[in-house]
Parts: sequence; C-alpha cells; structure tokens
Amino acid sequence: MANIGYIQVVRHCNHFCGFCSNPTTPYVHTFDTMKVLVDDFVSRDYFGVILTGGEPTLHPELPKIAGYARDQGLHVRMISNGWRMADPEFARQMGEAGLQHMHVSVYSHKPEVEAQLRGLPKTLPKAEAAVDNAHANGIAVNINCVINRLNCDHLHETIAWWIERHPQVRHFVWNNLDPSMGRAEVNQDQFLHRLRDFEWSLAEACRLLERTGRTFRVEKVPLCFMADFAWASTETRKIVKGEERIVHFLDDKQTVRQTTWGHRYVDACRHCSVQPICGGLFDKGDAYDPDELTPVFIDLDQVVQRIIQDPSDPSYTLRSLPAWKADFMGRQREAKQAAEREVARQQALDAERRGERQPGTSGGSGRRPQDANLKVGQVTAEGLRLFERKRRIEGKQAERHGVKLETDRVTRKGATTDAEAARDERGRGGDEATP
Ligand code: SF4
Repeated sequence: MANIGYIQVVRHCNHFCGFCSNPTTPYVHTFDTMKVLVDDFVSRDYFGVILTGGEPTLHPELPKIAGYARDQGLHVRMISNGWRMADPEFARQMGEAGLQHMHVSVYSHKPEVEAQLRGLPKTLPKAEAAVDNAHANGIAVNINCVINRLNCDHLHETIAWWIERHPQVRHFVWNNLDPSMGRAEVNQDQFLHRLRDFEWSLAEACRLLERTGRTFRVEKVPLCFMADFAWASTETRKIVKGEERIVHFLDDKQTVRQTTWGHRYVDACRHCSVQPICGGLFDKGDAYDPDELTPVFIDLDQVVQRIIQDPSDPSYTLRSLPAWKADFMGRQREAKQAAEREVARQQALDAERRGERQPGTSGGSGRRPQDANLKVGQVTAEGLRLFERKRRIEGKQAERHGVKLETDRVTRKGATTDAEAARDERGRGGDEATP
C-alpha cells in the first residue's frame, strides 16, 4: 500500500494566510526528534514522507532530514509556499539532499487575490521561480491550492494560466477549506464559501487538466460536487484502497493516525450510489451547509475500477473488481466490529467511573500497539519565547490585513528548562528564519 506520512517540521511561516489551519505553536523539532518519526515510517513500511509546516523551508536542518529520509528509502516530498525555493542555491541544496517532489501552494493566478490570501504582496513570482528551480534540480512539482471564497470562481482560469506558463507542471491538488482549525475557524466570514460556489469552476478545471493529459486530486470535497471526477477524490481513493495516513502534528495533537475517511453524512446520503466510497462533508462544526448535499446516481463500480486499475499506483495489487469487493466487504466488517468494541469499551469505562466495575477491566487505553506514543517535537523555554514574540508580530499583521488571529489554545506548561532549551538550540544550530 502506498502510505505516505506527514511531519510538520516547523509551525511558523513567512506568509500570513488568513485561513491558515496550522499556525504557529511553541513546539520545535531538532534533527533527532524528526529522525525518530522518519524511522517510525520506515518501520511501518511507508512509501514516503511529506515534510510540511508551517513553512518547512524555515527549519535550518531541512536538507539534513530530507537526506536522512531519502537514505532510509522513503520517497521524500515537501509542501511549501516556494518563497525560499525561489533561491536557486537553496533549491540546489534541497535537490542534492534528496528532495524528490515539491507541492507549491498557490491559490490564484490573480496577483491581487493571491496577495490578499497570503497577507503579502509579490508571492506569485516567487512561486513561479520555485517551480522553475525545482524543475531544474530534478524535483517533480505539483501545485496545491486551497479552495476558498476568494478563488472559488476562477479555479479553471488559474489552471489555464499554469498550463500556459509552466507546462512542466503535470499534477494539481485542490484542498477544500478546512473551517475547523486555526485562523480558518475564526475567519469563516471572509474565506468560507458555499459548496456550489466552486462546483462549476472545479469541474471546468478538471476537464482542462484531463484534456491536456495532466493528473489531479481533490481533497475534502463531497462526491456530489465532483461526480464526473469521483475517482480523483483523495478520500475516495483511500477508502477504496484501504490506505491510512499518519500526521505528526507539531502541536498538542501530536500524532494522528487516520484509518477511516468518512466525515459527515445526511439523510440524503442514504439514497446515494457512491455513499460507501464517499468521504461525505468535511466539517467538524456547522460551517458548511449539509443541505447542499444531494444524492448522485453514478456507477460505483466504474469509479472503483478507475482507481484500482490506475497504472500510476503499482503498489495496489487487487486489480479486479471481484477481488476488490471481497476485500472491501471484509474491511467494512472489521471496521464495524472495531466500532462495536470501542462502544463496549467506552461503556465499561463509564461503568468503572461510576464504581460499578473493577478498575482495569475495561480493556486498557484502546490504543493499538502500532499507535504507541511517539513524542513529536518539544516545547522548550526558547520555543515559548519565540512563540510569544511571533504571536505579537502576527497580532499586528492580523490587524493590518483585517483578519482575526486564531484562538490561543496553547498550553504554556511543560516547557523544558532553559538549560535543556539551550542544549536543544545548540543541537539545532539555531532557527535563523524565526522572526
Ligand atoms: S449525497 Fe452524501 S454520500 Fe452522496 S456524494 Fe454527497 S456527501 Fe457523498
């Protein structure tokens, strides 16, 4: 299975997107704290790792950890705003270190829209330079784009712009805005759209990419808003192939191992032909309107066939529909049993709490051995100081751009001592890019 894991190597950034879902925290990584996570992916037989952030290029040891991951046999990728990769020397270093694939985040080809979304002018030429530099150093490039209120009507125009100016880019990824975290959560009034606002433009963009022989994926979009391209949904592909994803968050969430991909469904979904392979409505609150979901009646088998017979994923072995169906039904049975066990465990825990059962008879913590705790980074005294400073700077940026700063949920307890922090800093060689 082509599982790919994520490591957030930093959580600060040199841009200031009003809908950032992973803003600054006091956590920091050293090479050693990242190495443990890379080793864990290797022991799980993962195909690759995506180094992300914040803006990962701001970590001074990024080339070193990229090189280490590559030496361990992982396919090494990075998600970046491209600002530092616009420097040919830095791009050369990353290429030499072993970076194989870069996802450059660009929201719009319209400079004024891009500047408004990024909180910074002139980011577009930098992103273009990053694409060219990556290409020159043998690094494959995707364009990643968060769908939001300001760009949702011209996704197709942005694609046409990329095709014309950078024909070497062969793959595009859209991420529908996650309104539940970070600044996206508190700035919904500015950046959140209705699902139907992007439907036509997204379909047009997909058609253009397909016509020109390019590939694409779409994340967090219910299949009823991309029915003609259901096979390109990231969640659907993961449901069909039974893939998992581990994200090592550089915050209090720490490690999240995701094995299920369904989110929110409504009554209408019960009549929908693709419900078993649809991720539903990605919304942990009430941001998107569930009434926008409408059942579709497309052929589920055709969608599945397109995914399982995709030659670009040779690691998936169940290439025939009957073999896939037997496997899929088995996985659904297992998932149902696991859910029932979890309900029973919760009930036993509740009984324990009420004193109706002996402690320890509820079956433990429920974490599987493979989810055993891995420490993701650390909160150092220095990390806390940098965080407080960054937050003050970002407060002013927020005021200037007329957006709200994310809710501060940071736990300020548990930082390592100054002496430990100083040792960590020496180990890291300092963080030159932190303002
Ligand atoms: S109606 Fe529900 S199950 Fe069907 S595509 Fe929409 S979200 Fe998915």
